[in-house]
Amino acid sequence: MELPIEKKCKKCGQIKGIGYFYRDQTTSDGKRGKCIKCCNEQTKEWAKNKPGYFTERRHRLGVSIRYASEYMHGLSKTREYKRAIKIKRRLLGGELSCKTIQTVYEDNIKRFGTLTCYLCLQPIEFGLDSIQHRVPIARGGTYEYSNLSIACRSCNSRKHTRTDVEYLQIIGRR
Ligand SMILES: [Zn+2]
Ligand SMILES: [Zn+2]
Repeated sequence: MELPIEKKCKKCGQIKGIGYFYRDQTTSDGKRGKCIKCCNEQTKEWAKNKPGYFTERRHRLGVSIRYASEYMHGLSKTREYKRAIKIKRRLLGGELSCKTIQTVYEDNIKRFGTLTCYLCLQPIEFGLDSIQHRVPIARGGTYEYSNLSIACRSCNSRKHTRTDVEYLQIIGRR
């Protein structure tokens, strides 16, 4: 099925590119009804009333990648943060140094203020970040710092083997 290029957010009513919506397998067009910004605001609003939620969730899941996101949002150098970086590195095939991954995350936060997808420019929800090769390895890209950036899951899955320039043309940012 062809994805629509744009859709209207159910909450703010704005018409946005499809990249501004999270994926949702349960809907007919495969995207959530509310835009990423509205979803994130809703999550933040909701989390305010449940201060222990994220702590509780990460204990329940026991998945260290979740720690990474949470700690990276707060930029704290805890033991969990360092551990998560190591696990992330392992998942990426061991070609990357922990230091490189850490720098990529920190630069992203310095640039945008909060962990943000460099492709759709939307803030990334806890745990939904991914390291992105600007030029995919399959197409001659490297594991070097200059070829790495942080993207949201939605962009990550849509980009596939495109370069970031090709992908930005598709979502209409260039
Ligand atoms: Zn919206
Ligand atoms: Zn994105």
